[in-house]
Amino acid sequence: MNTPANIPLIETILNDVNEISKDVFVLSFLRNDEFRSGQMLAIALKPDDQPRLYSIASENKDKNYRILFNIQHQGYLTPRLSKVKVGDSLFISKPFGSFYGTEDEDFWIAAGTGIAPFISMLESGLAENKTLIHGGREENSFYYASVFAEKLKEKYIRCSSLIKDEVFYNGRITAYLKQTQDISLERNYYICGGSEFVVDVRDILIHRGVPYHQIIAEIYF
Ligand SMILES: Cc1cc2nc3c(=O)[nH]c(=O)nc-3n(C[C@H](O)[C@H](O)[C@H](O)COP(=O)(O)OP(=O)(O)OC[C@H]3O[C@@H](n4cnc5c(N)ncnc54)[C@H](O)[C@@H]3O)c2cc1C
Repeated sequence: MNTPANIPLIETILNDVNEISKDVFVLSFLRNDEFRSGQMLAIALKPDDQPRLYSIASENKDKNYRILFNIQHQGYLTPRLSKVKVGDSLFISKPFGSFYGTEDEDFWIAAGTGIAPFISMLESGLAENKTLIHGGREENSFYYASVFAEKLKEKYIRCSSLIKDEVFYNGRITAYLKQTQDISLERNYYICGGSEFVVDVRDILIHRGVPYHQIIAEIYF
């Protein structure tokens, strides 16, 4: 785990805990600073614990931060974080990172909890001209799907190799990207998810002619 060394952590109080899907939680806690959509926080349950990183998944004017995470059953923090209660303390850094949302006509590409920074971007008013390509397994793994569907309409593309339904592309994001006509060599591509996913998507985009500097990634390692 590669968290910036000795990053200062400040106490905050949890004010909402919600299990939105099996083993997937949304926590809300008091905001301690301004942030730009796409940024993250380092989070720990005790001030001297090694923190983990989480993208902020809330509107940048909201008085609370929100994060979205799934339990990694062999992991240290997430099994514990799934048991916190309203009123408990959390220790958080100031927001940081440079995966910033823009006003441009970008593509957003996400898998699993990698949707988190795009929730913040959408809620902060940056969704207007975006296309979101979102991957998941079952229907309940498309977190915040109804919000994205309402805002982005046909520019919200859901990919699942398990679901056969006209709303979904039947296949993984990588399969979708290999065959879609909707590839622009001018627009920027923002990718967020696990390292294997990000590398696979980036390789396909490069293979399809997208210049390397137009691919911006946030890797959850
Ligand atoms: C920039 C960035 C942003 C991120 N944003 C998010 C986010 O918004 N939401 C989110 O859910 N995650 C996010 N992550 C991932 C997050 O930081 C944590 O890595 C993740 O939540 C797991 O934390 P943990 O303490 O539970 O697991 P850790 O203890 O850190 O373990 C990490 C992995 O190693 C495995 N592991 C640990 N110990 C063992 C063992 N003994 N045997 C086998 N396997 C083991 C675990 O299963 C887990 O998969 C982000 C990561 C980065 C780098």
